[in-house]
Amino acid sequence: MLKNTYDDTTIDYLVPFRILGYYRFHCIIGLVVKECIPEMQEQINSAIKILAKKYGNVHPFLKHQNAFEFIIAVILSAQTTDNLVNKVTPDLFSRFPDPETLANAKIEDVARIIKSINYYKTKARNIIQTAQILNIKFQGKVPDNMDDLLSLPGVGRKVANVILSDYYKKPQGFVVDTHIKRVSYRLGWTKHTNPEKIERDLIHIIPKKYWTSLPKQLIALGREYCHPKNPDCSHCPLTDVCQKNLLITTKKLNEYTY
Ligand code: SF4
Repeated sequence: MLKNTYDDTTIDYLVPFRILGYYRFHCIIGLVVKECIPEMQEQINSAIKILAKKYGNVHPFLKHQNAFEFIIAVILSAQTTDNLVNKVTPDLFSRFPDPETLANAKIEDVARIIKSINYYKTKARNIIQTAQILNIKFQGKVPDNMDDLLSLPGVGRKVANVILSDYYKKPQGFVVDTHIKRVSYRLGWTKHTNPEKIERDLIHIIPKKYWTSLPKQLIALGREYCHPKNPDCSHCPLTDVCQKNLLITTKKLNEYTY
């Protein structure tokens, strides 16, 4: 009868070949990685230069006069367009111009002003609580460090990164919003869809001196060319350095519609 399993006494004459195969496999992977990383870094550097030339110094899209207005606008902007937020904030800030007045506001009053944006009830509660904490814990000032920002209701890493890089110009991470998720995935800068993992990838491959300017340039590109559906690749300035285009012959288009 043929033996189809190995027991302890079986001599495996194939072991040397298996070891050889293992090393060959890893050598090949090593060579590929060694070749790919510098090539990828070149593509990233080219993209950074092209975006800087095309968009230059992009100002934050959300209107604001000070750090308080900015953090409130950024909290409101989750799952909502900046245009919609810019429509409600003038009224909101004229009624509640500082943390003290907003901390004492009624949820119904705030909700009525911001009701055209998504999740307005939750956001009304979050911005009032944030104003209360700013008053009690931070003397009415918006903190300029990640840990304190993350302690505020409605503030996750994205909001905190936006405040630190766009307002304080002290980036501690890379902003990952819905546009940056999509564009960086298509460019081949990440294979992840989770914002925190994407941020880790971007921090690793993008020099820190670009962490303030590049996110806004990528967002501008996402709005102008790299739409969620039917990206305008033929006019996009990154078409020659985009993995979506470079791999399009071997990968299915719908793998890149994320
Ligand atoms: S080439 Fe196309 S997929 Fe790539 S970044 Fe530009 S618009 Fe997006």
